[in-house]
Amino acid sequence: MLSVPQANILPQFIDPRQLAKQGATLTGQIDPDLCSRLAEAVIKISEPIISSLVFHVEDSGRKAIHIKSSTTVLVSCHRCLDAMSLPLQCDTIIGIVWTEDEAGTLPKELDPWIVAEEGDIAELLEDELLLALPFVIYHDETACSVNLGSLSSEKEFNEKIDSPKNPFEVLRELKDSIFDK
Ligand SMILES: [Zn+2]
Repeated sequence: MLSVPQANILPQFIDPRQLAKQGATLTGQIDPDLCSRLAEAVIKISEPIISSLVFHVEDSGRKAIHIKSSTTVLVSCHRCLDAMSLPLQCDTIIGIVWTEDEAGTLPKELDPWIVAEEGDIAELLEDELLLALPFVIYHDETACSVNLGSLSSEKEFNEKIDSPKNPFEVLRELKDSIFDK
């Protein structure tokens, strides 16, 4: 958890290259109204999304941002479907680029942010938190209200809930149906 004054709301739009030149640091909360995609992906965002963004110029001359963000969300356990609390955080270094081509030239340790003069940092931070959200989430076995004793293994359980179709199958069919037309 980052310790940041919670009342401090981050600006939504910033000039990332200017801030990198200045070596600026921004800390605070993202306005929850700007995080509707994350809000829809979970039952509830239960704690403020606290973030820090350290803007800097790397030795290579590349303008970059070290972002850290954390919150807690309420999600459904995929085994018992009860709500469970899940701490969510990201810690990533972002390379600021103008174009997709330029993004391809970044070293592997930098995630690209393709951005014009003005960038939306709420959107950037929300994207990173969505990436940090696990695809499937379970309680610890001891905390889960589904009795695993009745299933011979977790694998068997997963096969049961995945049947009859796994998500990739569904995606492939969807893709085929779009491209066949
Ligand atoms: Zn559970």
